[in-house]
Amino acid sequence: MTGPLCGHWIGAERRFCRSADQVRHYLPGMRCPLHTPNALKGLPEVPPGPGRPRDWTTPHPPRTPNPRDKRHLTAVKTQETAR
Ligand SMILES: [Zn+2]
Repeated sequence: MTGPLCGHWIGAERRFCRSADQVRHYLPGMRCPLHTPNALKGLPEVPPGPGRPRDWTTPHPPRTPNPRDKRHLTAVKTQETAR
């Protein structure tokens, strides 16, 4: 039986990696540790967990409270919906 192979295309060498060492399934496909999405971006590897797709782990920038937002929200159609 043949195990999964890394499907990363090595453009410089015009071939697929096809490494079978510690290959796991990532969003783009099967990848060896050298060619995970994070590794290609130069990011540290994060163990995947359930419900945490890897491309969604980037946290949103923290929202700074804006007094204008609050005033806008409370001013929206309160009288119309009250009827
Ligand atoms: Zn690879």
